[in-house]
Amino acid sequence: MLVSFIEGDDARRLSSRPLAERRAGVFGSFARYFGPKAKNAIDYVELDWMREPWSRGCYVGIMPPGVMLNYGAQLRPPIGRVHWAGTETATQAAGYMDGAVRSGEHAAHEVLARL
Ligand SMILES: Cc1cc2nc3c(=O)[nH]c(=O)nc-3n(C[C@H](O)[C@H](O)[C@H](O)COP(=O)(O)OP(=O)(O)OC[C@H]3O[C@@H](n4cnc5c(N)ncnc54)[C@H](O)[C@@H]3O)c2cc1C
Repeated sequence: MLVSFIEGDDARRLSSRPLAERRAGVFGSFARYFGPKAKNAIDYVELDWMREPWSRGCYVGIMPPGVMLNYGAQLRPPIGRVHWAGTETATQAAGYMDGAVRSGEHAAHEVLARL
């Protein structure tokens, strides 16, 4: 199984193009790396994360310059009984699975400490 990403300007451009065009581009790219057999894939599955309603983009949340500096400290503290988990709140590996697990564990410990 081969997995790839289309990012940035390429993603914005190809998002509105027909699926067949994207597929041909992806297979062409695979063929460059892995040889012509890569064009004979038995299946092709894709997801346009910009159109996915709950994430609306890929693949990490990006904060513009200054946001972390000015508001970063507000990312994690609980508000009353509401505790925050989610990869963006991780102190390590924010934006990745590792950060998601760490933030979940952190939130669980916070809640346990208050029980
Ligand atoms: C295409 C892609 C590829 C990636 N590849 C990698 C990779 O190779 N390695 C890696 O480490 N990380 C990767 N990531 C990042 C990783 O997937 C995320 O960092 C991780 O899943 C975040 O976990 P989370 O629990 O913080 O949030 P999520 O997994 O986003 O969970 C949040 C959940 O909340 C739900 N939700 C949202 N709003 C509401 C609401 N109002 N009410 C109820 N539920 C709601 C959502 O539906 C979702 O299920 C990738 C991400 C993408 C999109």
